[in-house]
Amino acid sequence: MKIGIIGGGQLGLMIAQAAKELGHIIYSLDSNDECPIKSVTDYHIVAAFDDVNAINELIKISDVVTYEFENIILDKIIDSEKKIIQGLKALKISQNRLLEKDTIAKMNIKTPKYTSFEMKKKMKYPSIVKSKTGGYDGKNQYIIKSDQDIDRIQIDNPENYIIEEYINFDYEISVLCTRDIFNTTVVFPIPINHHKNGILFTSIVDGSIPKEIIDKAVEKSRTIVEKLDYVGTMAIEYFVVGNDILFNEFAPRPHNSGHYTIEACNVSQFHNHVLAITGNPIIEPILVHKSIMLNILGQNLCYIKNSYNYDEAYLHLYGKKEYNNNRKIGHITIIAENNLSILDEITKE
Ligand code: ADP
Ligand code: MG
Repeated sequence: MKIGIIGGGQLGLMIAQAAKELGHIIYSLDSNDECPIKSVTDYHIVAAFDDVNAINELIKISDVVTYEFENIILDKIIDSEKKIIQGLKALKISQNRLLEKDTIAKMNIKTPKYTSFEMKKKMKYPSIVKSKTGGYDGKNQYIIKSDQDIDRIQIDNPENYIIEEYINFDYEISVLCTRDIFNTTVVFPIPINHHKNGILFTSIVDGSIPKEIIDKAVEKSRTIVEKLDYVGTMAIEYFVVGNDILFNEFAPRPHNSGHYTIEACNVSQFHNHVLAITGNPIIEPILVHKSIMLNILGQNLCYIKNSYNYDEAYLHLYGKKEYNNNRKIGHITIIAENNLSILDEITKE
């Protein structure tokens, strides 16, 4: 099939790599003519993500279209032949944190307490202010500990923000799951995610999450993908507090915390995504190896060299032209089994 991919960054690249292995043709769209997907795409359209004509053109020439990020202007997209198999419902909801949390709360799934920024008086401190739209990697977020902090933060338009309870969580997890057009949902082994400065640092799958938490996370995640009538791979983030789990956010696409699946599972989040959106049955994921996924940011180039010392470290560089600070330029999956010390060795400065 001809698969159109909106966005040519690392997620677009890895979707395209999986699609190529499955024999598909790739048409991509990105504002950058030198983006990662260029190394595998068959035809690349250079256009801004708000260029509705270009996106409609991509839809027209492709058999099926997918995307690597949520911030796509949906109003004028013409999908009369329903080529965006993922559907636009989950995408639209994920574009607005308030709508997203309202939708999930209506499913009787617990979230941190939240409200629109205008209603901030209802919130106790500490709390966290987040932009409703366009946030990623902790951008446009402010931790608030006092009234003074609220006065100090510089936000353009209060209508564009929510405020939520700051959760002193034990740890964070994400559930990667894929649903196909036959209403089968499969769930990948669940990683524990560590962030640094709001950016994912590691995702660790080592079998340490209690069964009770896994069962709750799987059940809630199945409810979410099914109620959203979503097809494809989705990531759902939760905070774990004692025996409770609280929904944080979902991404209706493959996700950074699921990169470990490429080497550590019998099927990757990208393969299952491609299988689902091309109307094929998906594969039940099995963990073959315990693993650690480590992100490489522009300032972490030493991780690359350090990783050469370990056969257990699988390096992925995305071919980005600029290695800026805090920009994800690659990742390393360490097939750790029981050897977590390799992570310390690779991240030695
Ligand atoms: P993004 O879209 O940037 O990933 P998130 O809402 O996931 O936004 O926030 C990024 C990170 O910030 C989270 O993974 C978590 O570590 C921290 N964080 C977000 N919301 C809260 C909260 N309510 N309480 C505590 N930490 C939070
Ligand atoms: Mg997040």
